[in-house]
Amino acid sequence: MIHFVGAGPGAPDLISVRGARLIEEADVIIYAGSLVNPDVLQNRKKECVVHDSAYMTLEQVIEVMRQAHAENKELVRLHTGDQSLYGAIREQMDELIRLDIQYDDVPGISSFCGAAAALQTEYTLPGVSQSVIITRMEGRTPVPEREKLREMAKHGCSMVIFLSMGLIREVVQELLQGAYTEATPAAIVYKATWPEEKVFHCAVGTLAETAEKEGIKKTALIVVGDFLRASYDRSKLYDPEFTTEFRQAEKTE
Ligand code: SAH
Repeated sequence: MIHFVGAGPGAPDLISVRGARLIEEADVIIYAGSLVNPDVLQNRKKECVVHDSAYMTLEQVIEVMRQAHAENKELVRLHTGDQSLYGAIREQMDELIRLDIQYDDVPGISSFCGAAAALQTEYTLPGVSQSVIITRMEGRTPVPEREKLREMAKHGCSMVIFLSMGLIREVVQELLQGAYTEATPAAIVYKATWPEEKVFHCAVGTLAETAEKEGIKKTALIVVGDFLRASYDRSKLYDPEFTTEFRQAEKTE
């Protein structure tokens, strides 16, 4: 059996219980060595064979899977964060379907969740923003025209930008063509949940100089939006004057 497993954002104890069990049972592990914390692998069997996908092509990954399947072995394909975001899993799954090899998919905690924890805040604040845009700057991977950063920035909601540290000056230019201003709060979260995690609060206008001054070039998220400010409205859900499915509003005289 092939198991796609989300390793979580970095801290080895932020993998799911199911993912951790599958690692303990695996005969073969293919992991994204460039981003997955190797400590996540520490409970593997002694005889478990480990491959680093950073050095492999899709064809090589599939060949290791095909062989493991033929030998009736348990294989874990470990992706960073949650594999449904920038994980390149579809192309692997489609090859497995073509080869008639069964797989399952165990989600992980994405780094954008790790970043919120590092920032000790919430992306969806009443009266501020009720949406989060997860996106990236166009790099070698093209981004559809209607999803260009400047288009996404028109919403002015909470935004998390992946894979874009190397293009941070362009990111700022794009953001400023949308609803954000130089003063809109922003932050760079480096290696969220890793021991070396760092959070730099700044504004859209100072994102590029912050990244340069702190020497942050990769493994970081750019987060932008008014959710980083102090003010917001209280939630209705926990408001004493609000009736929910489970609780009657307190009577007010
Ligand atoms: N599937 C992953 C994202 C893979 S793309 C997830 O769900 O998190 C790789 C990009 O994710 C990196 O360039 C960086 O922008 C971001 N990233 C991954 N781990 C991170 C972490 N611990 N802290 C900050 N950013 C991270």
